[in-house]
Amino acid sequence: MAASRNTKPNSDSDPYYELLPSDTDPARLKRERDKSRKLKKSQWWHRKIGAGICYYCQNKFPPSELTMDHVVPLARGGKSQPGNIVPACVECNREKKLRTPAEELLTKKS
Ligand SMILES: [Zn+2]
Repeated sequence: MAASRNTKPNSDSDPYYELLPSDTDPARLKRERDKSRKLKKSQWWHRKIGAGICYYCQNKFPPSELTMDHVVPLARGGKSQPGNIVPACVECNREKKLRTPAEELLTKKS
């Protein structure tokens, strides 16, 4: 049998990563999403969005325009905990998708 790999690059055309089955386990994702839902109600988070600074572009936004973003996405093995959760404006959140910060740097360099 010829050499074959069953971890194909994600066909969604982002060449920088592959999704691991263990990281995308639905039960784990649900647990982490539940955690971030709780964090959203916490004082800690309200202070974050109260400051109004987008973690990525450093611009100031009203709290209502900031979304909760996982620096390392849950589907990439990230966790719902302070340190991995930052406020992001809608624009930055959309641009980032499922990349990690290192990959973000790679794609910005071009
Ligand atoms: Zn931003």
